[in-house]
Amino acid sequence: MIEFHNVSKVYPNGTRGLNNINLTIHQGEMVVIVGLSGAGKSTLLRSINRLHDITEGDIQINGQSITNASGSGLRRIRRGIGMIFQSFNLVKRSTVLRNVLSGRVGHHSTLRTVLGMFPAEDTELAMDALERVNIRDKAYSRADQLSGGQQQRVSIARALAQQPQIILADEPVASLDPLTTRQVMDDLQRINRELNITTIINLHFIDLARQYATRIIGLRAGEVVFDGTPEEATDEV
Ligand code: ADP
Ligand code: ADP
Repeated sequence: MIEFHNVSKVYPNGTRGLNNINLTIHQGEMVVIVGLSGAGKSTLLRSINRLHDITEGDIQINGQSITNASGSGLRRIRRGIGMIFQSFNLVKRSTVLRNVLSGRVGHHSTLRTVLGMFPAEDTELAMDALERVNIRDKAYSRADQLSGGQQQRVSIARALAQQPQIILADEPVASLDPLTTRQVMDDLQRINRELNITTIINLHFIDLARQYATRIIGLRAGEVVFDGTPEEATDEV
């Protein structure tokens, strides 16, 4: 479903973020990408929803090249991809529900959503998404009144409100304690299984990757140095 063909990314300053990546990720996989800081994990993830352009090669989603997509085509691709960040990226002073509704913005072309007036179906979708991560009761709290783990669950709900085919999570638990880490990883795993959403997660802990991944990809200096099952993954990955 997601294919990388000879993908390289060189940043404007000459740093090579990815070097000739070839990968096929299938529908419903829960892929964890591991590697040290600077290995290229974030560069790889950001290439999938075109947060930046790649320098060489091509990335296809469902057989369609995203490399030259623009305008409405690019918006449609992004709408199908939920993003989760280490730092949650919520609007802190806004309510939880408003934050989750922002996942619906790309689905409407009208001014109404810009003004914050979402159709009732969107509110239902948003509440269902909150239910799925067990924080429906926080819908009317201000985002910054929630704990880190709860805020990350809000950002998962925001991604779900997009009704995505793909979820990309860039170090989603890096700022969380061990207990909350487990809850957030459990949520991501449950969503992957129940909704069959292709999920790609960057982590820097191999132990966590082994527990949750259906497939582990190891990156080093922008190259794939391991690609296999959690059972095959050693500490060297
Ligand atoms: P990871 O997510 O595994 O920590 P990154 O994808 O962030 O790795 O980085 C891969 C390489 O690209 C590193 O050498 C990093 O310094 C470099 N890099 C990342 N972002 C930029 C940028 N905006 N400009 C220049 N170099 C960058
Ligand atoms: P990080 O905190 O992951 O190191 P930045 O602080 O540079 O990275 O911001 C994250 C990047 O993702 C920015 O380029 C920003 O425009 C983009 N971004 C932020 N929120 C979203 C979102 N909800 N969907 C898509 N892209 C986003």
